[in-house]
Amino acid sequence: MIPLEEARRYVLERVRPLDAHRVPLADAAGRVLAEPVVAAEQVPPFANTAMDGFAVQAADTTEAPVVLSVVGTIAAGDSFSGSVGPGQAARIMTGAPLPDGSDAVVMVERTVFDDAALTVEVGVAVEPGNHVRAAGEDIQIGDVVAEAGVTLTPGHLGVLASVGIHEVSVVRRPRVGVVSTGDELVDDRRPLNPGEIRDANRHTLLALVAASGWEAVDLGIVADDPDQLRAVFGDAAERCDAILSSGGVSMGAFDYVKVILDELGEMRWMQIAIKPAKPFAFGCIGDTPVFGLPGNPVSSMVSFEVLARTALERMAGNASADLDLLWAVSEDSLGHGADGKTHLLRVEGRRDDQGQWRVRRAGGQGSHQLTAMARANALAFSPDGQAIEPGDNVQILLLG
Ligand code: AMP
Ligand code: MG
Repeated sequence: MIPLEEARRYVLERVRPLDAHRVPLADAAGRVLAEPVVAAEQVPPFANTAMDGFAVQAADTTEAPVVLSVVGTIAAGDSFSGSVGPGQAARIMTGAPLPDGSDAVVMVERTVFDDAALTVEVGVAVEPGNHVRAAGEDIQIGDVVAEAGVTLTPGHLGVLASVGIHEVSVVRRPRVGVVSTGDELVDDRRPLNPGEIRDANRHTLLALVAASGWEAVDLGIVADDPDQLRAVFGDAAERCDAILSSGGVSMGAFDYVKVILDELGEMRWMQIAIKPAKPFAFGCIGDTPVFGLPGNPVSSMVSFEVLARTALERMAGNASADLDLLWAVSEDSLGHGADGKTHLLRVEGRRDDQGQWRVRRAGGQGSHQLTAMARANALAFSPDGQAIEPGDNVQILLLG
């Protein structure tokens, strides 16, 4: 058996980010930026007022209250050609450009406007810059407004739009093929024949891929048959950026998956010191990475989370993707006797009033017991041979 870290390193050294393409901003949310975006415009583009009020020369207000003559009104969107001299003011609305000559704004609540006389009484002394948003105060020309590798959020889109960006270069979304292997598997509405079981893994894995923002390609069920396996894997390697296969990676006598993957690609068959999900294979057919996940439904999901996910995230352009574990307080006994393995327990986690994660078992922990997998929102990493009693700390990986 090899440590999980060694298997992860092996996989991560063999995946590369996909190529980039340009998409309109409208399609860019959730995508990974391929190159940094540098602002060619400043924000705000011009000095403007943060308040409805009057643009003045601050020096005129030191002896407030003071009456100034009003030389004009400036709404947001206007370009005002006049200027504000000593003893003068301009009525101004939030977002409107600060007129030449003025250096401060007095909020409307601190003024009394005389419409007929075109004067304003300013009731308060203000400093230069009062309620003024300076040009370039938020973003200057040349600033990097979004780094390569960030997943674009709605906030980023607003920033990019504000500097006049209409298109961005994003890493192509991985097309991930998902295939279930095994003679026993069925996925239709008829009753099961003796020996058959329903294919659970493909549904879980397709949904994990889709929920991660990648393109899931359903490759169906393939029997333990060399010709079928060769055809499906060969075709998938052409069409997909990565393949997730479940079943046939352990020690079974009819596991032709192994034979065919070895024939088509360069595979490493591993026994990893974790439970569940000990058997795992990784390799490439051409340059398409293939993740050989174990068949037991819980194992295939766990294997995806701890071995495939980070690699796919890196392919999707997120160079800093990693296994991010958090500390939690256990409410159950989660330890186990020494068997050489880290146990990855399906747990239900929640944050208490102090923001501390607390976890308890999500149900039966057998690798065939799917219900705990559905209930769980985290995996607890129970180190080999270590007691974890209620109140002890344990590291967890949040799911989804
Ligand atoms: P294998 O890794 O092929 O030896 O399969 C291990 C166990 O997982 C066996 O009990 C299989 O029947 C079961 N299994 C394999 N693939 C699936 C699947 N797609 N859905 C549900 N169970 C599966
Ligand atoms: Mg099998």
